[in-house]
Amino acid sequence: MSFKRRSLAITCAITSSIVLAGISGTAAAQSSYVSGSSGLLSSSELHPETPAPLDAPKNIIYMIGDGMGYNHVSATNLFETGQTMHQVEGEPGSVTPVEGGTPVQAFEGAEWTQLAQSTFQDGNSYDPERAWADHNYVNENFTDSAAAGTAMATGVKTTNGMIGINPANEPAKNTSEYAIEKGKAAGVVSSVPFNHATPAAWAAHNSNRNDLHAMAEEMINSDLNVIMGAGHPFFDNNGNPITEADEDYMQASQYERLASGETDFTFVEEDADFEALANGQVESDKYFGLAQVEDPLQHDRDGDSVTPYDVPLNDVVDLSTMSKAALNVLNQDEDGFHIMIEGGAIDWAGHANDMARDIEEVQEFNKAVETVIEWVETNSSWDETLVIVTADHETGYMTGPNDDPNWSAMTGAAGIVPNHGWHSGNHINQLVPVFARGAGVSDIVAAADQVDPIRGNYIDNIEIANLTFNKWW
Ligand SMILES: [Zn+2]
Repeated sequence: MSFKRRSLAITCAITSSIVLAGISGTAAAQSSYVSGSSGLLSSSELHPETPAPLDAPKNIIYMIGDGMGYNHVSATNLFETGQTMHQVEGEPGSVTPVEGGTPVQAFEGAEWTQLAQSTFQDGNSYDPERAWADHNYVNENFTDSAAAGTAMATGVKTTNGMIGINPANEPAKNTSEYAIEKGKAAGVVSSVPFNHATPAAWAAHNSNRNDLHAMAEEMINSDLNVIMGAGHPFFDNNGNPITEADEDYMQASQYERLASGETDFTFVEEDADFEALANGQVESDKYFGLAQVEDPLQHDRDGDSVTPYDVPLNDVVDLSTMSKAALNVLNQDEDGFHIMIEGGAIDWAGHANDMARDIEEVQEFNKAVETVIEWVETNSSWDETLVIVTADHETGYMTGPNDDPNWSAMTGAAGIVPNHGWHSGNHINQLVPVFARGAGVSDIVAAADQVDPIRGNYIDNIEIANLTFNKWW
């Protein structure tokens, strides 16, 4: 145990007593929490395998595959094993789930609760009946990652383009800030630039998601304990160093301040530094990790992929290593933590309708989930930690090969890019999957009081944040 780790524990003990002093306020907030209307189904009615009710989570690990709709999960499963779940088929108004298929990913297994989530932004809605009666219904009025991230991070729906700002243009508190208020640690990790919409939603407030230098500045000056992602001004998309700064995400001067130790963060950027943290060599309670690549870790490297990995990967840190590194830093806080981990480039592959790289990105995200599961079982437990695996929206409208106006199932075999179709170069207003395990899951199940005829019970994208604010912490 390092000296800094000791001093952190002392700080947390002091903060805990302050939090305890405010416990009556927390109780009042809990009693005002209303989980929904009369249509509530009990957890055993929803999923017989749902774990027994557990207490509020001490640690929340919120994992988001950006753009990872049901079919993105299915396509990757098909590529890995030839098995698939979550498929649908039929004519408008008579769509049915395709029977069969066995779990492929750990988070599809019996220990996990499976629900769905609506993703729409402020002023819009999701109508289950219309969604399955008109193939193109979901192609309109879809959220962007800024509004979806803000909803999931702050519990407030907002206008597309806004980060951590409500529709009245006021800052909305996110669950990272709330964790820190409660004496916990907080962090964000992404496989795309650190100040892209999803991580920024848990770390910044700006009415314009493209105001990237201002959000970088806000994040550099924030109280977060961990910020890790791409967006390096001195590397290109193949992970090669460049001499003239590319300031798309971060100014050269901001990088220099981080790298020279002029901020509160301990700065790391080399693969070996991330690996050391992942191996437990943690020497500070506050890390900024900037992967040595410009845009996403892998998605924008040169070459056109026909099948996954036919173009060699960049030699740069992966999402799994960053996730484990971040968890080791945050776990120094004895009061617990909140972390958002994003597989951000699933969305980029969806926009490009690029199935090979979509599968690569989902696999990278799934590997990070496996790493997180192993970390929880080694360093924590499901009694105190909640892991959520979900998406902010679907991207690309990935479907089976014979869609429109009907729905069709994707088909394929292990090692082969599945037979599929795309119906958008943008996002859609479709439900996305939610897989959850650990403390607090029974509360999420109770909040899933809306029912989709195909996907079953679903939550709205503000509900987990509102459980965090009003019930758990
Ligand atoms: Zn997108």
